[in-house]
Amino acid sequence: MTSLRRQLSSSIDLSKLKNQRAKAGEQYIPTDVEQIANVITHALWIVPSLVGLFWMQTKSQSQAEIITTFVYGVSLICLFTVSTIFHTVSFTKRSGVLKNFFHIGDRAVIYIFIASSYTPWLMLKDFGGAEITSMWIVWTMAVLGILYQYIFHEQYKWLETLFYLIIGVCPAWCVMHMADPSGVFELAVGGMTYIAGVIFFKCDGIIPFAHAIWHCFVMTGATFHFYAINTYLIGVKQVESSQGMHV
Ligand SMILES: [Zn+2]
Repeated sequence: MTSLRRQLSSSIDLSKLKNQRAKAGEQYIPTDVEQIANVITHALWIVPSLVGLFWMQTKSQSQAEIITTFVYGVSLICLFTVSTIFHTVSFTKRSGVLKNFFHIGDRAVIYIFIASSYTPWLMLKDFGGAEITSMWIVWTMAVLGILYQYIFHEQYKWLETLFYLIIGVCPAWCVMHMADPSGVFELAVGGMTYIAGVIFFKCDGIIPFAHAIWHCFVMTGATFHFYAINTYLIGVKQVESSQGMHV
């Protein structure tokens, strides 16, 4: 009976599912089950993203809608594909140039994805002429984030997280001021989902499967935003703006 209890307690020992936290400047090494979970949780969304891009393209009614849904749809596919490749390479190769290349790519594509998530709103909603400036700011921040990632990869992890939060949250101020506020609620819920997920993004080595849980938050946030874009932006006649980018 005692031995059975010991076996049961060891089989539910969650600490064995994770490794030690990474030291400063080093990458966390996931356990094998964590690696598999990391691959599965984003690989599952590659095909739905392709279908989503096709769906948005067929639903688009104007040139602006076609362009913006293409940018958003392709970034969605890139996010899940680059992430899946990185985690697969990380699991099979474990070290080397290829793993490092895709790790930088995995982090860099997040900046592109955040900018792409704002692009449909900035292109298709009326901001009284502020949309072009906002678009420049968002994409400039994304480029700076990618450069930071390339130059200082894994060196200042707290700064990386701060950059994600700045580029993710600051443009929301602009979106809150659009003439027609429809879709803001879903946009905010999606944004809050990403922010909540960042907690797990920072918990490698503390919570088992923390990175796979972060992936799940990304999938959920993307689903809210995909729903909002399809419900409020494309295939729907927007309020025309004399200074907007409606085509
Ligand atoms: Zn990942």
